[in-house]
Order: sequence, then C-alpha cells, then structure tokens
Amino acid sequence: MRYLIGRYHEIALKGRNQWRFVDQLKSNLRAVFADFKLGAMRGEGPRLIVELPEEIDEEVAAERAALLFGLQNFSLSRPVARDIEAIKREAIAIARAHRSARSFRVRATRADKGFALNSMEIDQAVGAAVKDDAVKDAVELKVDLENPALVITVEILPDAAYIAAGKRPGAGGLPVGITGHGIALLSGGIDSPVAAHRMMRRGLRLDFVHFHSHPLVSAASREKATELAEHLTRYQARSTLMLVAFADIQREIVARGPRPLRVVLYRRFMVRIAAALARRSGARVLVTGESLGQVASQTLENMTVIEEAAALPMVRPLVGMDKNEIVDQARALGTFETSIQPDQDCCSLFVPPHPETHANLDEVRAAESVLEVETMVADAVRKAEIVRLKFP
Ligand code: ATP
Ligand code: MG
Repeated sequence: MRYLIGRYHEIALKGRNQWRFVDQLKSNLRAVFADFKLGAMRGEGPRLIVELPEEIDEEVAAERAALLFGLQNFSLSRPVARDIEAIKREAIAIARAHRSARSFRVRATRADKGFALNSMEIDQAVGAAVKDDAVKDAVELKVDLENPALVITVEILPDAAYIAAGKRPGAGGLPVGITGHGIALLSGGIDSPVAAHRMMRRGLRLDFVHFHSHPLVSAASREKATELAEHLTRYQARSTLMLVAFADIQREIVARGPRPLRVVLYRRFMVRIAAALARRSGARVLVTGESLGQVASQTLENMTVIEEAAALPMVRPLVGMDKNEIVDQARALGTFETSIQPDQDCCSLFVPPHPETHANLDEVRAAESVLEVETMVADAVRKAEIVRLKFP
C-alpha cells in the first residue's frame, strides 16, 4: 500500500477556516488524479493522507502532486507497523531501491509521542540498520547528516509508521478555487501566463480570454494562447478558454479613432469584453500581465485609463517585476518556449510609431463617443468561441 502524505502550506495558518481549505484541496486532488481511483483521504494534524492505488507509477504520482497548490511538500510513503524492526526493514528496502545514492540519512518525526523511541533514537537505530545492510552487500553508502543524496523519512503517526524516500517540494500557495474565480487575459506573450499562474497559486480559479485578429493575421496567436491555457489547466484540472475575434473592433477604431490612442482604445475594449464575459461565468476579477513602464501602454496614466473601462477590479501580479524576473519565472513554469514562438499580436496591428503614453480620459471618452461601444462589445461577446480544456 502506498500513500501520498501532503503537508499543508499556508493552510495551516487559517485557524477555524481550515476545513474549507482542506476540502478544496481534497477536491482539487481528486481532480488532478481523475484518471485513477484514489482511496480514502483523511486529515492528520497538518497533513493530508491519501491512499494511492498501486497502479500509479511513482513518478506520475509525484508529478501530479507537485501541481497542487496548497502543499508545502509531500512524500510517497509506505506504512508499516509501529515497530522498530518493521521500520528498519522498510528503510532497508528503500535504500536498496536507491543503490546509486552514495550517502544517506534517516529523518524521523513523531506526531505521536507515545512511540517508545524518540526521533533521534529512531534516526540512529534505523540509520545503523541501513548502513549494516549496505556493508553486507559491499555497497558504498555513508551517513551524511548535512548533505545526503538520499533522505529516508520515518513519520510515526497514530495508526502506523510511514516510510518514504524523502520529501518533495510542493507547489505552495493556496488551493485553487479557495479565494474566488477570475478571468485572465492571455495574450500569447511571456507575461500573461506568469501572471495567471501567480494568481492561481493564490487560490484563484481562472478562465482565460484571448483576443485575436484572425483572419487579418495568421492563427498563430490563437494556437499559442490555447497551448498556454492547456499548460495552465494542469493546475486546476478544468478551464474555459474564450477566443474573441477582435479584427472588426480594430477596424472600427482604426477608421474612426485618433491614431495615437489606438492601443489604449484596443485595451479598453478588451477589458470591457473580458468583464462582460466574466459576468456570464460569475468571475469577479480580471488578471493581466502588465508591468509598470514595460511598454507604452503600461504607463501609470494609460493603465489608469484602461482600468476605467473595466466593470471589475483588475489585478496585475507582475506590476512591480522586472522583465528578466518575469522571464525566469516563465522558464520555471515551462511557458517560455511557447510564448516566444513568433506570432502577430493583435495589438501590434495598425499601431502608430509614437503611441500616446499619457492618455487623457476626456480625450479617450471623446474618441469613443463616435463608436457604438455597447454594440461592438455585445457582438464580440456573442461571437466568442468557447474551448473547454481538461487535465488529465
Ligand atoms: P504579454 O507578454 O502578457 O503579452 P506584454 O508585455 O506583451 O505582455 P502587452 O502586450 O502590453 O504586454 O499586454 C499587457 C497585458 O494585456 C497582457 O499581459 C495581457 O494580460 C493583456 N493582453 C494583451 N494582448 C492581449 C490579447 N491579444 N489577448 C488577451 N489579453 C491580452
Ligand atoms: Mg503582448
């Protein structure tokens, strides 16, 4: 029998609301393991213990568990009787399965202080048994308390001792869904997937919206946005991606609006449409990848004028980050390679060489007064293409 033992991240701090967080985590866990039949789940102090079916490959289980926001770390453990000889046998089996490790240590914790030996005594007794077994097999394996290649963890819980080949890092944050539901504006570029990921990590369940100028340009940005949304769906098991055709709106703006205001006007339409789509799905916040001063549309003035058109609050988790920090995060997240594929972003269409960097709300409103704003928004919302994404 094998168990996933997850240790809560910030959940542990949530006091009397803890059960809500644990419930959300459990349901997210069932969702990312939906293709397997998981056994019982139970809470045990600051941990969640889940029975895994034997057919799940250990690496697959580890990969899936690493997607779960809300876990500080986790291990894949086997339970044995609370008996030091049984613990030694399992620890030896783990050491034998990791014969290439040249060094190891045992790390025991007792959630139940009723056990006869204390943690240090367990470390020593089990460590000596593992070492002896290696010597008997003429395998070189030394004890290294500081920097071991293999850590054998022993957790003494009330019902059994759980033994594992170490703890693996969890995804941190809060379980997706616990803080609400939002819509991320996903461009196909580097920044917006990083922004979305950061908000999911703070417990926000996201839908995605992408604006494209197909057929004025190729379908590349749509394909990129779809690929990025699929990647992000791994963290929440299900997503809705809304693909919005933006070319007609852009033609109107180009035909009737002042040239320097084009980008700001595009953006105001985007946030209007996104807010209208949010209303349909019950989302309460918009998420963008804007970063202060990064490009002309991201000056304080322009961001303020853009936000004014949004019927919902906008959050910009990258607003204070440098581009190179965002790039590092995109690489770590695994979205960078997709994001740098060439495409033609809809906002680069018909953009003047010197766009307005300090848009003035009165001028913007005057420019919009000649447009059928509500009809344009309603048309785009009505024609939005809905793509349902699912993981696994
Ligand atoms: P990104 O790398 O996310 O594209 P960027 O540095 O290219 O960001 P902009 O193009 O100014 O910045 O876009 C700012 C934000 O506006 C994006 O992070 C995204 O949230 C939103 N956005 C821009 N273009 C689109 C689009 N075509 N579809 C959906 N959202 C978009
Ligand atoms: Mg962009």
